[in-house]
Amino acid sequence: MSELAAHTSEQTVSIPARRVPVAYDADVVIVGAGPAGFAAALKAAREGARVVVVERFDMPGGVHTSGLQGSANTGVGGIHSELMERFAAAGYIYTATQDTLPNWAGNPLSHYERYHKPDAPFARASFNPEGAGSLMAALLMEAGVTALYNTSFVDVIMKDGVGDSTITAIIVENASGRQAIIGKVFVEGSGTAHLATAAGVPFVRGGGPQPETAAWDGVHRPIPGGLLWIMSNIDFSRTVAHQISAQDPHLSKLIAEADAAGDLPKGLYRPRMRGENVYGDLYIGHPTLDMSPMLADGTFILWQNVPYEWALRMDESGEDDTRARRELRGFIDAEARFLRKYVPGFENAVLMDVGRFVGVRDGRHPIGEYVFSIDDARKGHRFPDPVTKPMTKTFYWDKHAKYMFEVPFRCFLPKKVDNLILTGASLSFTYHTIFMVMRNFPWCTQTGEIAGFAAAQCIKKKVSPKELEWSTPYF
Ligand SMILES: Cc1cc2nc3c(=O)[nH]c(=O)nc-3n(C[C@H](O)[C@H](O)[C@H](O)COP(=O)(O)OP(=O)(O)OC[C@H]3O[C@@H](n4cnc5c(N)ncnc54)[C@H](O)[C@@H]3O)c2cc1C
Repeated sequence: MSELAAHTSEQTVSIPARRVPVAYDADVVIVGAGPAGFAAALKAAREGARVVVVERFDMPGGVHTSGLQGSANTGVGGIHSELMERFAAAGYIYTATQDTLPNWAGNPLSHYERYHKPDAPFARASFNPEGAGSLMAALLMEAGVTALYNTSFVDVIMKDGVGDSTITAIIVENASGRQAIIGKVFVEGSGTAHLATAAGVPFVRGGGPQPETAAWDGVHRPIPGGLLWIMSNIDFSRTVAHQISAQDPHLSKLIAEADAAGDLPKGLYRPRMRGENVYGDLYIGHPTLDMSPMLADGTFILWQNVPYEWALRMDESGEDDTRARRELRGFIDAEARFLRKYVPGFENAVLMDVGRFVGVRDGRHPIGEYVFSIDDARKGHRFPDPVTKPMTKTFYWDKHAKYMFEVPFRCFLPKKVDNLILTGASLSFTYHTIFMVMRNFPWCTQTGEIAGFAAAQCIKKKVSPKELEWSTPYF
């Protein structure tokens, strides 16, 4: 039996019109409880709004909990600092240093510290994604947020039908079946502009222009998404001993051996792009192991990225999403077995966990009343409606340049829809600016908090987000 091919024809079926029950009538309705949607819900509720947030997985936190990316960062204020303090107080933060993990700084296997000088001091802090997710759920409960888990946003109702500028309700699905949730202000927290694009907000697809190097074939591909996984019971000191004694810092000799024995699938280890992509050599391939200490001694998180050349768009295509999940899980299975069989220190290692979803790094970018571009950062533009005081951020792929700039509130306001606020990875930024710099956990949490504050102000003042006067930075 062979797999069925997906229909590419124009064939359609009609869905009979039917009435669905209204489950909630709220002030603020949020789709997705990642760092941004979570902070938006918490802030809006603390400001007195009646809030419903829907999340397709079983806890808030998005990429950083369900996706296992538990990078603990220094608090940047507001809800982000509160979270880091709560995680620490609950004992959910683990920090590896040069004392607990010698030979890590400068090690080519290190995702973050490979650029360091050998023996350089470092402190790599991570939080426990499962514990953090439970704490975040408790915080939402404490604030009086109605958070619906295992609940997927599937459709949007516009006031006067398709093309109208006001959202009146979202349609969701969970164990109760299909239901409507009515709201006054809506917040986009899906990380992939799911609500905004369904509501008719114009957007740019992931994969902006690439520099025309000799290697570029003219195809615009999104920066690959990734699936994270965890392995424990690793004796890394034995791996280091092998790296040194066999003069095999990248494990290339072991990889070649496994390859010759037919133990590695094609594409598991593949070369980086070597600067032939707008983001330099980042994230494009795994020539070797790619890992970072997490959770406890001997436990590491590992990256599986979608091969760049596959050009998968998990946010737009069910087939691409399925392929990414299936193939990356296959890679993880193969990599775990390779590590245990060939790599000293991994003999007794255990495959502990795989993220609940393949995270999208470069999905649909909704177009807002202002589109923040790399030039705004480079030129340090100031705006009449800043959301923060001037921020300094490092643009790693722009030769590590540090730019000081502001972001206008208009980046939170999508074109064409009046009662929707954008957040997190779905802000109105060009893909040059959002990748790496303007989509990290702290910043996404800040954008959610700003959106939650703005939404609650709209409810109090009885205005739409676009009518809200904004001249004072929130942070
Ligand atoms: C693989 C990967 C690695 C990363 N590594 C780092 C890192 O090391 N450090 C860092 O700071 N940042 C990192 N990032 C970036 C950062 O994680 C994201 O930019 C950030 O999580 C975006 O926050 P968000 O709240 O906008 O979206 P997300 O974190 O994506 O959360 C969106 C939430 O919405 C939910 N959702 C989506 N669609 C629906 C729907 N239809 N119905 C209901 N719920 C829905 C999802 O389940 C999810 O919980 C990484 C991103 C990826 C993809």
